Amino acid sequence: MAQKVLIVEDEKPIAELVRFNLEKEGFQVETCYDGQEALRRVQADPPHLVILDLMLPGLDGLAVCREIRKASQVPILMLTARADEVDRVVGLELGADDYVTKPFSPRELVARVRAILRRVAAPRAEEAPLRVADLVIDPGTYEVTKAGRRIPLSVKEFDLLRFLASRPGQIMTRQVLLDEVWGYQYFGDARTVDVTVRRLREKIEDDPANPQYVLTKRGAGYYFRKD
Ligand code: CA
Repeated sequence: MAQKVLIVEDEKPIAELVRFNLEKEGFQVETCYDGQEALRRVQADPPHLVILDLMLPGLDGLAVCREIRKASQVPILMLTARADEVDRVVGLELGADDYVTKPFSPRELVARVRAILRRVAAPRAEEAPLRVADLVIDPGTYEVTKAGRRIPLSVKEFDLLRFLASRPGQIMTRQVLLDEVWGYQYFGDARTVDVTVRRLREKIEDDPANPQYVLTKRGAGYYFRKD
């Protein structure tokens, strides 16, 4: 069955360009041109992935992302024409899974979409859940529970947690994390890692200011606690 992608972009030529390239690759594509409509569609008929432009009339992309994340962990790929770091970081901070800056090559965009969907839709079922302290990290379902309670994480937060937790005590520099968790085509900077770690801590730690799972090695990077 074709995977469904929802494009949210008011610039119709761009929306059509993206649609054309995704349909060519066998995706089922829906397009909408404003944020309110996007929220309605995500709720009524959840897609496998949302491509969300930052600049939208009315409810902008950041607000839409925030609203979607209140109820759904659907993967979100942000589009932005504003290449400054703040927007990139804010986008990820709100729970987007990745971003592409305009102008983008359709090929790169399709590659990103595939990479995100591969992580979600084709989980490595043979991988056993990772159990550390009261956390259970399940690569088969992309779920994390803490003391039996499910913790909703974005794909990136999950990937980062899994990467660190499967190597307890090993200090990872931000560059290593960018390479390993964000992947070969990612153009983000080290702050992207810091922001994702902060979001992750807010979700999994009892006291995010005094973390017990994902720890900082000052001047070096991050590591998962070693019991
Ligand atoms: Ca736009």
